[in-house]
Amino acid sequence: MRHSRQTVFPGIGPAGQARIRSARALVAGCGGLGAEAASLLARAGVGFLRIVDRDVVEITNLQRQALFDEDDVRERRPKAVAAARRLARVASDVAVEPVFAEIAPGSVLGLVAGVDVVVDGLDNLEGRYLLNDACVREGIPWVYGASIGSEGVSALVVPGRTPCLRCLEPDPPGPGVSPTCATEGVLGPAAHAVASLEAAQALRWLVTREVPDPPVLVSVDVWRLAFHRAELPPRNPSCRCCGERRFEFLGAGGDPAGGRASRSPFGQRS
Ligand SMILES: [Zn+2]
Repeated sequence: MRHSRQTVFPGIGPAGQARIRSARALVAGCGGLGAEAASLLARAGVGFLRIVDRDVVEITNLQRQALFDEDDVRERRPKAVAAARRLARVASDVAVEPVFAEIAPGSVLGLVAGVDVVVDGLDNLEGRYLLNDACVREGIPWVYGASIGSEGVSALVVPGRTPCLRCLEPDPPGPGVSPTCATEGVLGPAAHAVASLEAAQALRWLVTREVPDPPVLVSVDVWRLAFHRAELPPRNPSCRCCGERRFEFLGAGGDPAGGRASRSPFGQRS
């Protein structure tokens, strides 16, 4: 009954809802993207959510992060904990595991363990290379998402079936090269649009196990009112990550490329 509005949707149905119910997801980062994605996934009935974030709720978060309130700011609650408290009142049928920690080379494999899909709610590109390494190594699909200003992008990465992050952009730009939301700003509607795209791709994956053919990168600009769907190139067979299975970001220090500006759609966002 609770999920009747999506079980009557033909793409999901009762069988799809059962798959959603039995699924486990990791929300990696619980800011503008992750908080909204976590809310959508919990409301959709994903049975288990692990929410990982290293920050406490700050007043500047409330402009776009609708899971949090001023009480969380006053109490300096970790975002993962505040999200779990809120979601317990929204969807008590969903098990939420809050983890107040940084996603680091030493912890990421434990964090992705046992989940069916990972949703990217990170605020930095370096973390996404780490997530990509961990997910490709373990064969776990992950949904890339990034937002800045009035814009955002998202894509589904399924190891072995779609290009991975390093197929498209072999090395991250150096520190300080990519713009960040702290310096460039970000609109609530932009972050929510991307989070919605991410949650939709995660749910679609959980229900269908299908990937778009060819794989696509969806971009949106909520100020210019523009949506764009770009076909991604095929996997790079000599990709160091999903081709040669060298997981350089999981090791000590990884293999960052230092200082180079990125031209790919992945590299332009924080
Ligand atoms: Zn690859």
